[in-house]
Amino acid sequence: MGSDAARFANQLGIETGLYPVKHQAFITRRLPLLGKDGGALDMLIDRRHYKGFSAVYGQQLPETGQIIGCASPAFDNQEVAKDLKFNSQEFLEICSEIFTDWLPQLSAVGFQAIWAGYYTEPRYIVDPENGLLVGMRGHGFMLGQYLAKIYVDKYLGRAVPDYMDRLSLKGDGLSENAFK
Ligand SMILES: Cc1cc2nc3c(=O)[nH]c(=O)nc-3n(C[C@H](O)[C@H](O)[C@H](O)COP(=O)(O)OP(=O)(O)OC[C@H]3O[C@@H](n4cnc5c(N)ncnc54)[C@H](O)[C@@H]3O)c2cc1C
Repeated sequence: MGSDAARFANQLGIETGLYPVKHQAFITRRLPLLGKDGGALDMLIDRRHYKGFSAVYGQQLPETGQIIGCASPAFDNQEVAKDLKFNSQEFLEICSEIFTDWLPQLSAVGFQAIWAGYYTEPRYIVDPENGLLVGMRGHGFMLGQYLAKIYVDKYLGRAVPDYMDRLSLKGDGLSENAFK
């Protein structure tokens, strides 16, 4: 159910504590390849807490040369359920500033498109007893298939990793660092 997970679970009388946090992304116009040895630019990331953001990151798509990037809010609570129709001025400014600092030649390059969507925070819930596989945050592409596998394993009574209990609705979740 994506960012609506908490709402639908609530209708079934399940309190998940999940909430949607707005994140924003951009894609530039086509560019020549800017990376090492004539290749595409690898992922660059600035993890400073700076001007209201905790990370600014992006990489170049080898097929088109476009740079695709995001900036993560430093304080989730300020972005909870925020309207996705708008991208903030702060977001556009931080992306321009950081990327132009890295690569001054980007100062003349325009955005082709900007986008906003939700991360479902603050924790995963992988709990077949309650029928919940929600709260994938910014990790769902990477971990979704594996978490789905252990969800099914648990449902079928097969062996699952010990940390599965911590991922249940009653569990404490796993800290961000556990995945790094
Ligand atoms: C900007 C951004 C960057 C990200 N980058 C990464 C990354 O680099 N690596 C990574 O691992 N993860 C990343 N993620 C996170 C990843 O996208 C999510 O964790 C993942 O998509 C969550 O999967 P999901 O299936 O739980 O929910 P979703 O992908 O949100 O899917 C939920 C689906 O349910 C549908 N739905 C909702 N309500 C109903 C209804 N009532 N009836 C029928 N259908 C309904 C929705 O339309 C949607 O298709 C990123 C997310 C964002 C926003």
